[in-house]
Amino acid sequence: MLKGTKFYAITKSKCPRCMEGDIYPDSNPYHLKKLSDFNQRCDVCNQNFEPEPNFYYGAMYISYGYTVALFVAVYIIFGVWMDWSMWPTVSALGIILVILGPFLFRLSRTTWLSLFVHYDRDATERWQKEKK
Ligand SMILES: [Zn+2]
Repeated sequence: MLKGTKFYAITKSKCPRCMEGDIYPDSNPYHLKKLSDFNQRCDVCNQNFEPEPNFYYGAMYISYGYTVALFVAVYIIFGVWMDWSMWPTVSALGIILVILGPFLFRLSRTTWLSLFVHYDRDATERWQKEKK
Protein backbone atom coordinates (compact mmCIF):
# COMPACT_ATOMS: atom_id res chain seq x y z
CA MET A 1 0.00 0.00 0.00
CA LEU A 2 2.58 2.59 1.05
CA LYS A 3 5.45 0.69 -0.52
CA GLY A 4 8.19 3.07 -1.51
CA THR A 5 7.75 5.31 1.53
CA LYS A 6 10.03 5.42 4.55
CA PHE A 7 6.97 4.74 6.71
CA TYR A 8 6.52 1.39 4.97
CA ALA A 9 10.19 0.41 5.40
CA ILE A 10 10.21 1.45 9.07
CA THR A 11 6.96 -0.21 10.12
CA LYS A 12 7.61 -3.43 8.18
CA SER A 13 11.37 -3.60 9.00
CA LYS A 14 12.14 -3.82 5.29
CA CYS A 15 15.20 -2.70 3.39
CA PRO A 16 14.73 1.06 2.80
CA ARG A 17 16.33 0.76 -0.64
CA CYS A 18 14.22 -1.97 -2.29
CA MET A 19 11.38 -2.28 0.28
CA GLU A 20 11.47 -6.06 -0.09
CA GLY A 21 14.41 -7.56 1.81
CA ASP A 22 14.16 -8.17 5.54
CA ILE A 23 16.58 -6.33 7.82
CA TYR A 24 16.19 -8.83 10.67
CA PRO A 25 16.47 -12.62 10.29
CA ASP A 26 13.85 -13.04 13.03
CA SER A 27 10.97 -10.61 12.58
CA ASN A 28 9.74 -10.93 16.18
CA PRO A 29 11.63 -8.41 18.41
CA TYR A 30 10.43 -10.26 21.53
CA HIS A 31 12.73 -13.20 20.81
CA LEU A 32 15.25 -11.42 23.02
CA LYS A 33 18.28 -13.60 22.25
CA LYS A 34 18.04 -12.48 18.61
CA LEU A 35 16.97 -8.91 19.31
CA SER A 36 20.09 -7.20 17.95
CA ASP A 37 20.77 -9.69 15.12
CA PHE A 38 20.40 -8.23 11.66
CA ASN A 39 21.35 -9.33 8.16
CA GLN A 40 24.62 -7.80 6.94
CA ARG A 41 23.20 -7.24 3.46
CA CYS A 42 19.79 -7.20 1.83
CA ASP A 43 18.94 -10.54 0.19
CA VAL A 44 17.08 -8.78 -2.60
CA CYS A 45 19.18 -5.72 -3.60
CA ASN A 46 22.48 -6.25 -1.71
CA GLN A 47 22.18 -3.02 0.31
CA ASN A 48 24.70 -3.00 3.16
CA PHE A 49 22.74 -2.79 6.43
CA GLU A 50 25.77 -1.58 8.37
CA PRO A 51 27.23 1.14 6.13
CA GLU A 52 30.03 1.91 8.57
CA PRO A 53 31.35 0.44 11.86
CA ASN A 54 29.15 1.26 14.86
CA PHE A 55 26.56 2.77 12.53
CA TYR A 56 23.68 2.06 14.89
CA TYR A 57 25.02 4.20 17.76
CA GLY A 58 23.13 7.04 16.12
CA ALA A 59 19.89 5.12 16.58
CA MET A 60 20.08 6.06 20.27
CA TYR A 61 18.99 9.60 19.35
CA ILE A 62 16.00 8.20 17.47
CA SER A 63 15.20 5.94 20.42
CA TYR A 64 15.33 8.96 22.73
CA GLY A 65 12.84 10.78 20.50
CA TYR A 66 10.44 7.84 20.38
CA THR A 67 10.70 7.39 24.15
CA VAL A 68 9.94 11.05 24.86
CA ALA A 69 6.91 10.86 22.52
CA LEU A 70 5.76 7.72 24.33
CA PHE A 71 6.19 9.37 27.74
CA VAL A 72 4.17 12.38 26.66
CA ALA A 73 1.40 10.13 25.27
CA VAL A 74 1.29 8.00 28.43
CA TYR A 75 1.30 11.11 30.63
CA ILE A 76 -1.61 12.62 28.69
CA ILE A 77 -3.59 9.35 28.85
CA PHE A 78 -2.93 8.40 32.48
CA GLY A 79 -1.94 11.65 34.18
CA VAL A 80 -4.32 14.08 32.48
CA TRP A 81 -7.18 12.14 30.90
CA MET A 82 -7.57 9.43 33.58
CA ASP A 83 -6.39 11.83 36.33
CA TRP A 84 -3.97 9.38 37.98
CA SER A 85 -1.57 10.79 40.57
CA MET A 86 2.19 11.01 39.93
CA TRP A 87 3.53 7.63 41.11
CA PRO A 88 0.93 5.43 39.41
CA THR A 89 1.52 7.41 36.21
CA VAL A 90 5.30 7.01 36.54
CA SER A 91 4.79 3.27 37.19
CA ALA A 92 2.61 2.98 34.08
CA LEU A 93 5.34 4.76 32.09
CA GLY A 94 7.96 2.29 33.36
CA ILE A 95 5.86 -0.78 32.68
CA ILE A 96 4.90 0.35 29.18
CA LEU A 97 8.52 1.21 28.41
CA VAL A 98 9.73 -2.24 29.50
CA ILE A 99 7.00 -3.92 27.44
CA LEU A 100 7.68 -1.83 24.33
CA GLY A 101 11.49 -1.78 24.78
CA PRO A 102 12.41 -4.45 22.22
CA PHE A 103 9.95 -3.02 19.71
CA LEU A 104 11.33 0.53 20.15
CA PHE A 105 14.91 -0.78 19.88
CA ARG A 106 14.26 -2.19 16.42
CA LEU A 107 12.03 0.66 15.35
CA SER A 108 14.83 3.10 16.17
CA ARG A 109 17.42 1.14 14.23
CA THR A 110 15.20 0.80 11.20
CA THR A 111 14.37 4.53 11.34
CA TRP A 112 18.05 5.43 11.61
CA LEU A 113 18.93 3.28 8.58
CA SER A 114 16.02 4.79 6.63
CA LEU A 115 17.41 8.29 7.19
CA PHE A 116 20.53 7.40 5.21
CA VAL A 117 19.30 4.86 2.65
CA HIS A 118 16.72 6.02 0.13
CA TYR A 119 14.23 4.13 -1.99
CA ASP A 120 15.50 3.05 -5.41
CA ARG A 121 12.91 1.21 -7.47
CA ASP A 122 15.56 -0.15 -9.88
CA ALA A 123 17.91 -1.42 -7.16
CA THR A 124 16.64 -5.00 -7.25
CA GLU A 125 16.84 -5.27 -11.03
CA ARG A 126 20.36 -3.75 -11.09
CA TRP A 127 21.60 -6.18 -8.44
CA GLN A 128 20.05 -9.20 -10.22
CA LYS A 129 21.87 -8.22 -13.45
CA GLU A 130 25.13 -7.61 -11.60
CA LYS A 131 24.93 -11.00 -9.90
CA LYS A 132 24.84 -12.91 -13.22
ZN1 LIG B 1 17.04 -4.28 -0.42
